[in-house]
Amino acid sequence: MSADPLESPTSAGWNLDHSYSRLPGLFFRKAAPAPAKSSGLVVFNDALAVSLGLDPEPLRRPDQAALFTGNLLPPGANPIAQAYAGHQFGHFTTLGDGRAILLGEQIAADGRRFDIQLKGSGRTAFSRGGDGLAALGPMLREYLISEAMHALGIPTTRSLAVATTGESVFRNDGLPGAVLTRVAASHIRVGTFQWAAAHEDRAALEALADHTRRRHFPGLEEASHLDFFGAVMERQASLVAKWLQVGFVHGVMNTDNMALSGETIDYGPCAFLDRYDPATVFSSIDHAGRYAYSQQPPIARWNLARLAEAMIPLLHDDGKKAVELANEALHQFEGIFQNHWLDGMRAKLGLFNHEPEDRALVQQLLDWMHANQQDFTGTFRSLSTAAALDQPAFPDPAFVSWHAAWKARLNRQAGGPAEVLHRMQSHNPRVIPRNHRVEEALTAATLHADFSPFHKLLAAITRPFAETADPGLDSLPPADSPRYQTFCGT
Ligand code: AMP
Ligand code: MG
Repeated sequence: MSADPLESPTSAGWNLDHSYSRLPGLFFRKAAPAPAKSSGLVVFNDALAVSLGLDPEPLRRPDQAALFTGNLLPPGANPIAQAYAGHQFGHFTTLGDGRAILLGEQIAADGRRFDIQLKGSGRTAFSRGGDGLAALGPMLREYLISEAMHALGIPTTRSLAVATTGESVFRNDGLPGAVLTRVAASHIRVGTFQWAAAHEDRAALEALADHTRRRHFPGLEEASHLDFFGAVMERQASLVAKWLQVGFVHGVMNTDNMALSGETIDYGPCAFLDRYDPATVFSSIDHAGRYAYSQQPPIARWNLARLAEAMIPLLHDDGKKAVELANEALHQFEGIFQNHWLDGMRAKLGLFNHEPEDRALVQQLLDWMHANQQDFTGTFRSLSTAAALDQPAFPDPAFVSWHAAWKARLNRQAGGPAEVLHRMQSHNPRVIPRNHRVEEALTAATLHADFSPFHKLLAAITRPFAETADPGLDSLPPADSPRYQTFCGT
């Protein structure tokens, strides 16, 4: 760890622009990272840096660690906190970046634009009663899980670095403080639109819609606001289908945690299923199961309805007509989601074409897994072998009869076992961030400053379809382990 001498930042390829800051002033406030006692780079994502046009070698130098706590700003930074509102567990409130600061948008060599945000770098105009800080454990957790999601082919914000601050962060105990450098296509949320709507500022709302459309839907620059809304809906339907296909439970799908880019954002109480149960909830505060695994599609639709409400003034000059148009669009969500979901589930079962009974075939397997408390990831992976195509992998009679139907279905499609296996093995991960493995890695890192389990797990989950060096990493938790619980706002 380095104390922070007042070094100057190396150029390292920084190329920051600030298109969001050119929006009307109600969308942000100037901000400055709080000085950290020290800056120690504990994780750095070389591959991500390179894809952003940044040179990892100088950025990894101890004298540059201050860039990742906010003690040093990259050239061209213009730090702001973004304003937004949101429905939290169904209740509307005004929020904003209370513990995050946007440094700017890095323009990569191919012209793509990425928000560079420090999370946990101190109070902002939106901190309300909070300290603006983050503890090392949750920031390492976001790093691990966001990078796992990326490797699974799921759109997500990403993690460039975690740096310790030398500060104590008080939750129930004093915890080591840290800052995560988060990279996102943008941090524009459903809640950003709700913020504009709450101000009843039509010009600001339209500026935000135009900005978002230019940034994330380049083919729709000339399209109507309604078509733009439809495109946002399409991305959310696709995203949530992908979550379900890997057993991901986001855990806090408040409207401020839904990004218009279609990326997964805000890794708080999220976790992956082990034994398949559609009612699974991990979050300690989600008593009603609002954000349970199987509730995610209807909640995405609910959030999109809040977006549509915020966009009403843009959809039609006649308010009544605007509501009709929004409702018509929203009615399509379920069908769009179901198509994405079924296509993904077909891939998991090695199916290439469509048959009318496919939905029932998939559902029967899920019902069997639920009734028999089978592991979600493990079951699909154990079906993805030549032997399991041929013979039932489980002796249970219900499974044996399902297997016969599946085998007959595979035989009716063009394409032999090699193609089927290839499809299955590239859609059914071998390794996911198992909850007990994540906890082990975080405990070693935060309590014993031992980052080797973290790096071992990170290496495995960023190659989720490959053979693991350590087969223990994809093992199930012990049968007698207590129900896994996760926590918000940590
Ligand atoms: P989240 O649960 O991370 O989506 O955060 C919800 C809201 O609470 C956002 O406006 C955050 O910026 C804010 N927030 C969360 N933790 C803190 C903190 N420690 N200090 C200030 N604001 C916070
Ligand atoms: Mg949030």
